[in-house]
Amino acid sequence: MAWVVKLKTGFRDHAFDLMRLERIRADYPEMRIRVDYNQGLDPLEAPARVRDVAGFAPDFIEQPVPAQAWEAMRRLREISDVPLIADESVFGPEDMTRALREGIADGVSVKIMKAGGLMRAQEVARMAGAAGLGAYGGDMFETGLAHLAGAQMIAATPEITLGCEFYQAAYFLAEDILETPFPVHDGAVVLPDGPGLGAVPSVERLEKYAMARRHHEGVTTT
Ligand SMILES: [Mg+2]
Repeated sequence: MAWVVKLKTGFRDHAFDLMRLERIRADYPEMRIRVDYNQGLDPLEAPARVRDVAGFAPDFIEQPVPAQAWEAMRRLREISDVPLIADESVFGPEDMTRALREGIADGVSVKIMKAGGLMRAQEVARMAGAAGLGAYGGDMFETGLAHLAGAQMIAATPEITLGCEFYQAAYFLAEDILETPFPVHDGAVVLPDGPGLGAVPSVERLEKYAMARRHHEGVTTT
């Protein structure tokens, strides 16, 4: 298995980003690198920085400038051959329509919580695929139940051609709401094949963490 690292850049100075890229390239020459700025660059400083980072031949550079800086995204595509991925610029199919029309990216990051549901996330990926763009799967800081929904969506969406990433609730929640832990073995997600999403939420923990209840047609829901 080829090792891939996704590096978050742009939260400190440019020299720090270059130092880390140089170290990775020196110590792990075979490792593939993906870079994600999380909107961290000012559109004025972005071209020079993106050009430097592109010199390390990452698989892609994700969202270097703020979500609304569409013109800057479009122009950044012209300065290097490294694919540019839109994440915060594209939430659902409506954004994707505009992104395709304006040519702001070579690929798109697809997440259920951005798109507003399983089907809408798939729609974003299919729009990208139909236009010859790549799609990359991801998720947010959420519970294991949402991670499972994301994993199932990504596995069922062949248009997601650029791989995926997963945060893990087990790493940042004191306690997840799944009855059994989200299945990860040797760094790989193993899709459960049970009914529905493939895992059972813990009713006891749902009760424990419920923040509100509402009464609906005689049924109490949380
Ligand atoms: Mg991102």
